[in-house]
Amino acid sequence: MATEKNTSIAIEQLIKGVQKGDTASLARAITLVESTRQESAQKAETILEECRKTTCESIRIGITGVPGVGKSTFIEALGLLLTTFGKKVAVLAIDPTSSETKGSILGDKTRMPELVKNPNAFIRPSPSSESLGGVSRKTRESIILCEAAGYEVILIETVGVGQSETIVHSMVDFFLLLKLPGAGDELQGIKRGIIEMADAIVINKADGDNLKAARIAQTDFHKALHLYPPKANGWVPKVLSCSALKNEGIAEVWELIATHYQEGSKSGSLIHRRKEQNKYWLLQTIEDRLKFDFYENNGVKKMLQTLMTDVFENKISPFVAAQQLLSLYKSESN
Ligand code: GDP
Repeated sequence: MATEKNTSIAIEQLIKGVQKGDTASLARAITLVESTRQESAQKAETILEECRKTTCESIRIGITGVPGVGKSTFIEALGLLLTTFGKKVAVLAIDPTSSETKGSILGDKTRMPELVKNPNAFIRPSPSSESLGGVSRKTRESIILCEAAGYEVILIETVGVGQSETIVHSMVDFFLLLKLPGAGDELQGIKRGIIEMADAIVINKADGDNLKAARIAQTDFHKALHLYPPKANGWVPKVLSCSALKNEGIAEVWELIATHYQEGSKSGSLIHRRKEQNKYWLLQTIEDRLKFDFYENNGVKKMLQTLMTDVFENKISPFVAAQQLLSLYKSESN
């Protein structure tokens, strides 16, 4: 009983810490939310429910691009600029860690060395391992915690692998695609869905010998964007160029994001986008939890092993095997 009371006092203190903007508390709260341990789930829910009530007005920005395009350099430049405006900036990452190589695509190298030292910035290294679905749900919850801690700009970084872009797109107000000069050449190969999702395409590394290629890429992408129907909110995606390394064009990118935000706030499309996203996350969370529950079920675990072998040896069809597993799960859940 005493320990239960102690736990609830500790949770209350953690919530207060987050709401005061204490970064150590924020980091601990995110770790709790990210944990897959059963006993953390209840605590995480309490923290999230309380923090949800006290979030600040924020803008959530998704940034994607291939490894090497300059995401960390860009985020560092944009983040530092925003801190000069007195804004508090949080950086989160969705890293579609390969389950095969166990390698982290976004990397563990020291990224954003200046921003990391800035008292108005909070950088959370990307979670490692785990399934992409699980991690993404937690990133969404981490956004709420950052907003409760007073971070007005949330930058969410990912690479263009698998579903990671779609997932980030479904949790942000503005989705920015970073490209390299000369990318016009690969325009045909670019995933169609990504262009459709982008609110802006920014050609990075528009400096030195790259300047001409950047200008060409900008024109090519501008033309390509016109082939798509306008977005439901009336926003016409823009193409800009910048040099994150030389800190050129970053203010223009921010101006564009701010314009989108102002227009969206006025028209109500921003609130609408977030509401639609909440609906999506409701369903996504149910899917995640059901899946987790299913594979954690002891009966399922045992039977799955056997049926995997049977399917492999062609003794049973995968569909019948799946049906048997689902029936078992259902009977055990009743
Ligand atoms: P990420 O993998 O997308 O995060 O890319 P990084 O930010 O780590 O950058 C990859 C490399 O490109 C680094 O060597 C950067 O210094 C370089 N880089 C990033 N932005 C620019 C830029 O605007 N111009 C030039 N010339 N190089 C850049």
